Amino acid sequence: MKSAKLVIKNIGMILSGDMDTPVLDGNCMIAIDGKISVWGDQKDFDTDDATTLVDAKGVTLAPGLIDSHIHPVVGDYTPRQQQLHWIDSTLHGGVTTLISAGEVHMPGRPKDVVGLKAMAIASQRWYENFRPSGVKVHAGAPVIEHGMEENDFKELADAGVKLLGEVGLGTVKDGKTAKQMVDWARKYGIQSTIHTGGPSIPGSGLIDADMVIETGTDVIGHINGGHTALPDDQIICLCESCAAGLEIVHNGNERAALLTLNTARELKQLDRVILGTDGPAGSGVQPLGILRMVAMLSSLGDTPAEIAFCFANGNTSRQRELDTGIIEAGKCADFILMDKAQHAPGKNLLESVQLGNLPGIGMTIIDGAVTSLRSRNTPPAERLPEVI
Ligand SMILES: [Zn+2]
Repeated sequence: MKSAKLVIKNIGMILSGDMDTPVLDGNCMIAIDGKISVWGDQKDFDTDDATTLVDAKGVTLAPGLIDSHIHPVVGDYTPRQQQLHWIDSTLHGGVTTLISAGEVHMPGRPKDVVGLKAMAIASQRWYENFRPSGVKVHAGAPVIEHGMEENDFKELADAGVKLLGEVGLGTVKDGKTAKQMVDWARKYGIQSTIHTGGPSIPGSGLIDADMVIETGTDVIGHINGGHTALPDDQIICLCESCAAGLEIVHNGNERAALLTLNTARELKQLDRVILGTDGPAGSGVQPLGILRMVAMLSSLGDTPAEIAFCFANGNTSRQRELDTGIIEAGKCADFILMDKAQHAPGKNLLESVQLGNLPGIGMTIIDGAVTSLRSRNTPPAERLPEVI
């Protein structure tokens, strides 16, 4: 069978997702069978036999964005705000990969051990088998409950579960029990995250810095609260006293987001910063949430836009051990093509974002296949790429 060859030519700028070299040289990107092959100057490559040819028209290419914190339920529907097609809308915000922090909005969510394991395995499967609008959804993230034993984590891992939902959303509210379960999860290769801050909705509880540190999850879920943030001294303490991912979410406190960013920068640990929306939740779904976080952290947080984009793709890729979100040979050909929004100030895309403006998304590509054209949600871009 002839292999699928994607050629994207006339790229204006390539963002890498890697904070060490956030901008790469080249005007051409080639992917074979959905994986990144080479990039550079198009005159050096054979671009003749492309199965898909995209003329980027001078816009910027970046790895697809990753939302590190969502709460999916089933397909492209969420009962949380009675919303259909929220994942498709999110794709139009440049997000090509979503990571579940627990399918907690499932009506009648089982809380007994057999039931919660069954739901986690089923969720992992239905999103593996069905990608809404092409978007990769990593789901099947059980919320730990009292009564779980080591063998339950082994069973979950053997069945394909790779994530825990936010610690603290279930009945386990003490650090000692949580740490034991997180350690079991880690032993079998399951990543963990935790609900940090005040209660999100009636029925949930406070998780303070002491509990986060004692539990020792891989990611400090919404360190800026979801919505209610911890006091400043506790956020600084979390940044300073562990090496876990510092997840900043759209649904959280923006002042606490900037405190986290500034503390991570002082520690020279910006590589720990990753972004999520925490949607769908009480504040709804946020199709542009990740782009808004990038623009907010870049502008108010005084961060070059090319670095802020790394919070939304390369950093998350590394923290979450994904095969997407960074420009590297062999990684998935998941891209966004974007340009400065029409009438935005700044002389190019990066300047406009650093002035707090959203880019205009002109195309998304997942596994080397075009998944959307001009975004229906972002402001319109100055220039639009085209499939030839
Ligand atoms: Zn939470």
